[in-house]
Amino acid sequence: MKIVAFKIEGNGTFAQDVPAFAEAIKSSGADIVLLPGNSRVKRSAAAAAMRAGAEIDTNVVDVEVADGKAVARRWVYRQRIFTTFSRAARPWVIVTDPSLFGEICAKVGAESGQFSAADAATRTKINGVENAGTGGESTIKPDAKLLFVAGAGWTKKQADGALHFEEAASTITGFLGKSGASLGSSKSLVDMPEAAAAFTFMSHMNQVGQTGATPRHQKGLSTCCHGEEPHVVGWRFVNERRAVNLDANCGWAQGKADVVYVADAFAVMKKVNELLG
Ligand SMILES: Cc1cc2nc3c(=O)[nH]c(=O)nc-3n(C[C@H](O)[C@H](O)[C@H](O)COP(=O)(O)OP(=O)(O)OC[C@H]3O[C@@H](n4cnc5c(N)ncnc54)[C@H](O)[C@@H]3O)c2cc1C
Repeated sequence: MKIVAFKIEGNGTFAQDVPAFAEAIKSSGADIVLLPGNSRVKRSAAAAAMRAGAEIDTNVVDVEVADGKAVARRWVYRQRIFTTFSRAARPWVIVTDPSLFGEICAKVGAESGQFSAADAATRTKINGVENAGTGGESTIKPDAKLLFVAGAGWTKKQADGALHFEEAASTITGFLGKSGASLGSSKSLVDMPEAAAAFTFMSHMNQVGQTGATPRHQKGLSTCCHGEEPHVVGWRFVNERRAVNLDANCGWAQGKADVVYVADAFAVMKKVNELLG
């Protein structure tokens, strides 16, 4: 069993140390790699082990090798239980308590490995930029006067008891094409896998709200969206607000919109599209 110890000291960044540690683990050809658990090692060793295809344990206070089998010991449950354990996976990276590193290395007769911080190329390389919305034209237009928001209601069963995904998609894209509006969405709609096939023009980038975007259009028109607070906080820079909802008690009607049309958005937007020609 080959046991290699790397005496790592000083300082280093995560971005440089992870590839350097990973390379050291791989090129050592060791079954077991011992590292001292100082702050530098603890910052980067787990990520490096993953890159090197190794498994890792930290806070180890003892290692013993007997009959070709290695076991490690550490405390768990806030020092209440002292455990002895082993792993079949190789390489196995063992990060020891820093003060016990020398003692453990000597005990198991570890070879000392050479480590040098890599001059790793750490800058992110941009391969290209893709517009929000898959394929085709972007539906996010920050300069548009109007923000048109589609909610999950477009994907709900309608009065006839049926779903109307295709009609919803063509009504929304028809309106966007004619009006030049930017498209926003509620979280419920962008998170809905069944809607993704029909709503290919929309992605998470369209989501408005607490966990989404805060667009700054002059006007906003919300359709089939309930007007929940986590969504409406994303409207804080949209001053003139209107909503179309079947529910007269929806969030928009609770003082969040200037005008609420209690109506079927399918019918309203169909008519609007006709009027726009
Ligand atoms: C921590 C946290 C963060 C969140 N962040 C966000 C966020 O960033 N953005 C966001 O959007 N949400 C966010 N949410 C989720 C949010 O609370 C709501 O669940 C979500 O916005 C509801 O989406 P919705 O209004 O499209 O869907 P629903 O609540 O399902 O409402 C659909 C509406 O469509 C109406 N409707 C149905 N058919 C028609 C029709 N034919 N015509 C007219 N109206 C119709 C219904 O009356 C209903 O009001 C967050 C939630 C949490 C807990």
